Amino acid sequence: METRVAEKKWRKRTLNNRPLKPETLMMGYGYDPMLSEGSLKPPQFQTSTFVFKTAQDGKDFFATIQGRRKLGPDEEPGLIYSRFNNPNLEVVEDRLALWDEAETALVFASGMAAISTALLAYLRPGDIILQSRPIYGGTETLIHSILPEFGISQVAFEAELGAEDMRRAAEEAKKKGRVGAIFIETPANPTNALVDIQAARKVSEMLTVDGKRPPVIVDNTMLGPVYSTPLLHGADIVVMSLTKYVGGHSDLIAGGASGSKAMLAPVRRMRSTLGTMGDTHTAWLLMRSLETLKLRMEAGAVGARKVAEFLRDHPKIDNVWYLDFLPDDHPDRPVHERQNNSAGSTFSFEVKGGEAPAFRVLDALQVIKLAVSLGGTETLASHPAAMTHSGMPAEELAKYSITPGLIRISIGIEDPDDLIADLSQALDKA
Ligand SMILES: *Cc1c(COP(=O)(O)O)cnc(C)c1O
Repeated sequence: METRVAEKKWRKRTLNNRPLKPETLMMGYGYDPMLSEGSLKPPQFQTSTFVFKTAQDGKDFFATIQGRRKLGPDEEPGLIYSRFNNPNLEVVEDRLALWDEAETALVFASGMAAISTALLAYLRPGDIILQSRPIYGGTETLIHSILPEFGISQVAFEAELGAEDMRRAAEEAKKKGRVGAIFIETPANPTNALVDIQAARKVSEMLTVDGKRPPVIVDNTMLGPVYSTPLLHGADIVVMSLTKYVGGHSDLIAGGASGSKAMLAPVRRMRSTLGTMGDTHTAWLLMRSLETLKLRMEAGAVGARKVAEFLRDHPKIDNVWYLDFLPDDHPDRPVHERQNNSAGSTFSFEVKGGEAPAFRVLDALQVIKLAVSLGGTETLASHPAAMTHSGMPAEELAKYSITPGLIRISIGIEDPDDLIADLSQALDKA
């Protein structure tokens, strides 16, 4: 493989000292058409393995990937085998890192693959995970049911109770053992409770043992990299389900992790060993998705505001958990203003009267689809208590305001007035 030189046009991030925006760089960054017959778009490198020019190249590439050899200043790691690296994965990782303002990024087979691989890279038997609650059901199962079988336990704090509860939980965790990682999800699903990332970073500093600080890992799936950049607020690693907003078309499953090269080195090693990387075709689809990420996020956010305002004024609706409706004196307000650039487009609302009227609304929808997941081009509605959060005991559901009348909606890029018309006719049947 030829040495790829850093100052090549397709690696440029500035134009006459003007930093180029990610939405501009998505159209070409990290891909040299001349390495692929001039093809404007990156072809799909559907191959398991790569031919070495010489045996020495093969030796050098292995030595590099295993950390025995340092790369030259303009040198990139040679391609070896698609479990370690693949051109499609590398292009999409370079571009994801731009959105996340990260030094580097890794793409995985799913959001859960990214989360599991990151946690396995940092945790060892006897360690404690300090986690926020509520978090995504799959992550909760991993931390609460699976990792304990490997001698890793957890201490949780409530997103709702703010940094105070986080510090209380940190004290409790410290008494039990070494805290190996802090894992937070913000905004939390389904009621958009926020976790203060700066406060989590301070807690991590407080938990330093022998000069080692537990990494702050933030699940940024709900707002995505356009509307929240956790690395700028003190996170060490940001993980995402790329299945949601980044993929954005509800047609793929993938995950991402971004951060510094040093922070991601153990995660990369774990991924190469476990084989939790993304596949070539999905990487190719993600590359296409990244070109329209900002457009889609903005269209969804504009529509979500209109729909949220319609719902807030509707006589059959109680609460609308839309972030920009946070009262000025709410403790989450300054956190929202500091770490989020938008209220995003996924939120929940409560139909008066409980499950039966909520189900009637869901069953009456004509344009909006009844499905779990979020972040796609189409609007989806679901019932957290009966679906995504149905594994939770009743008292937990009540604690997190996951009431029987609660509907979660993820606004797509349809005409917002069409969505309002659909919700309006469905609410008539509540
Ligand atoms: C969907 C989701 C995940 C898991 O992602 P997959 O791609 O389904 O594995 C993790 N965290 C959050 C917040 C999610 O919404």
